[in-house]
Amino acid sequence: MAAKVGTKRFPEGYFSMQGDAELSELAANTSAPVAVRILWAAMARGNVWGHAGFMPGELARLIGLGSNSRKTLNKGINDLISWGVAAPGSTSRCLILSAVLYRRADRNLQQCDEPSHKEYADRMWVSRIGMEPAPGYYQAQLDAGKGPRIAEVRRRVTEESETVTTTVTTTTRTRTQVDESAVLAV
Ligand SMILES: [Zn+2]
Repeated sequence: MAAKVGTKRFPEGYFSMQGDAELSELAANTSAPVAVRILWAAMARGNVWGHAGFMPGELARLIGLGSNSRKTLNKGINDLISWGVAAPGSTSRCLILSAVLYRRADRNLQQCDEPSHKEYADRMWVSRIGMEPAPGYYQAQLDAGKGPRIAEVRRRVTEESETVTTTVTTTTRTRTQVDESAVLAV
């Protein structure tokens, strides 16, 4: 199902534009941090649901990592997840970008091939809210003028965030409680 074209695509109603070719070129710049390169590659690739699908090994190649780079690649993906940029469940086969960050409104209806996304390949994920319960639900909420309410729910969830120290990687990350029922209550 194609995303419905509405009057607003973000809770606040404003947006910026980006150049896919430039993003792709930047993604190959190995002097930039891995997580940032992954993000640029995903933003150039995303579909209308915010899923950025890649062939096996393609993402690593696009961002200039060698074939022995799974650990580095996974760390970069986990960074994006911990920052609330990409959904938990994002993989090297598909990064799901947050719909409050990224919208692809007018093209790329190709669904991702990540097997674990099969049930929600045509759904958007919103950081601090969760996966929309049905295709088109999030845009319908925005079209119905509920953007400010969604923004308020997201602010409230931010205040309830907890900081977790990850001893395995010895980094401190801020993890956000994701309340998937919040979007239903909006
Ligand atoms: Zn996907």
